[in-house]
Amino acid sequence: MGLDPCEQAVLKKWKSLRLLQRYLRRELELINQRCFAGKLSLPKVLLDRMRYSRDLAGDYVGARYLPPNREQPARIHIFPFFLLDKKDIQLALAHELVHHWEHESSQGLGEEGYPEDLPLLFLGRFQDARKREAWLHTHSPNFLQKSTEVAQSLGLPLKDFLFR
Ligand SMILES: [Zn+2]
Repeated sequence: MGLDPCEQAVLKKWKSLRLLQRYLRRELELINQRCFAGKLSLPKVLLDRMRYSRDLAGDYVGARYLPPNREQPARIHIFPFFLLDKKDIQLALAHELVHHWEHESSQGLGEEGYPEDLPLLFLGRFQDARKREAWLHTHSPNFLQKSTEVAQSLGLPLKDFLFR
């Protein structure tokens, strides 16, 4: 099983997967401190192969959050093409941490409804209405609200934070 070019580039950049893992761990802790008052338990970060990086619609995803279940702790899968740039890493980890935050704080969260300027956020984003619906299905109003705060405190553009 050979490495694809993107996977090779990741190895070249980080020298070893252990160094990369260490960096991801530290970055996750930093985001937890800065944006969640250090209150989240940290998910496990898993480096995943390029060939698993497409969603059901065939589009690439940078990372993926899986909530804990009976056998496993919460996990963030991150894909090679998001591991070549520290900004991308921060973006991906922070986005998935908001999913994790939502999972950990799901009790007692009010459903506020999407902001009125939601259509603006989507401008030029989804040509396909079904993809837009699918996105909304997994990104709640709470998610959106928290993302706005987190993106702001990290100095990341909200559009990138949500869709990159
Ligand atoms: Zn998401």
